[in-house]
Amino acid sequence: MPNNLLSRFRMKPGDRANLGKRDAADASAFPDRKAAELQSAKDGAVINELQDKLYAEGKRALLVVLQGIDTAGKDGTVRHVFSQTGPLGVTVTAFGVPSKQELDHDFLWRAHLACPRRGTIGIFNRSHYEDVLVGRVRQLAPKKVIEQRYDQINAFEKMLVENGTTILKFMLHISKEEQGERLQARLDEPESRWKFNPGDLEDRKLWDDYQQAYELMLQKCSTDWAPWHVIPADRKWARNAAVAAIVRATLEAMDPRYPKPDWNPKDFKVE
Ligand code: AMP
Ligand code: MG
Repeated sequence: MPNNLLSRFRMKPGDRANLGKRDAADASAFPDRKAAELQSAKDGAVINELQDKLYAEGKRALLVVLQGIDTAGKDGTVRHVFSQTGPLGVTVTAFGVPSKQELDHDFLWRAHLACPRRGTIGIFNRSHYEDVLVGRVRQLAPKKVIEQRYDQINAFEKMLVENGTTILKFMLHISKEEQGERLQARLDEPESRWKFNPGDLEDRKLWDDYQQAYELMLQKCSTDWAPWHVIPADRKWARNAAVAAIVRATLEAMDPRYPKPDWNPKDFKVE
């Protein structure tokens, strides 16, 4: 993947995302749809090979954080990008409304518990960022408490990175029109109805507040050690191609190696 593709979606620390002006249907990074689909399938296969090495090496982990409003395509992205990764090597954690037990701890507790062990890839479908998204929009904590969380998240992620976890964060950016169509499809298609939640319509009414909360999150929490990527996600194939390419390139940069045995295979004979 060309380098400019890698940096194209990445937010520099302090950057303003200006989501309202960002084209969620932009697929200009991938001029040819067929080629992008073939490439992302190849990327998926390479991700699997690299995860195998990561496991054999047993020293480091990769954490992939997916955020996006309802219907943004978080589930679909996991399904697509990691469909070729061996199930032993991946854990997916979906973060919903916190339980009583979770609320009895600090907001990062449940995220820390779900972090990937060495050798594996951990995927967060929603994450600790909900506490500055829905938490902010619905005022689930006092303003001061919410404001403190951005620095707390940055410090938490830095600690993870310093202890051997590489972190990649993706915000799946869809337009309000596209969300409207996807929500309608959930109502119309019997096999999709289970995904519909009347609360999604309440959140849709708060669209602008959510966009603002996302912008703040991107601005405050895209760090050198744990960058955010804003992925145009109205077109699923372009979304998949972007995420697959970035995950692959990140694993390639980590460059995991099979360990060298401290014995000589020639010294052994299997009878
Ligand atoms: P879904 O991803 O569609 O299964 O929905 C999960 C729901 O849980 C969403 O409405 C989120 O906003 C909500 N949720 C996730 N994390 C939190 C949190 N920390 N506090 C409150 N609500 C949350
Ligand atoms: Mg939902």
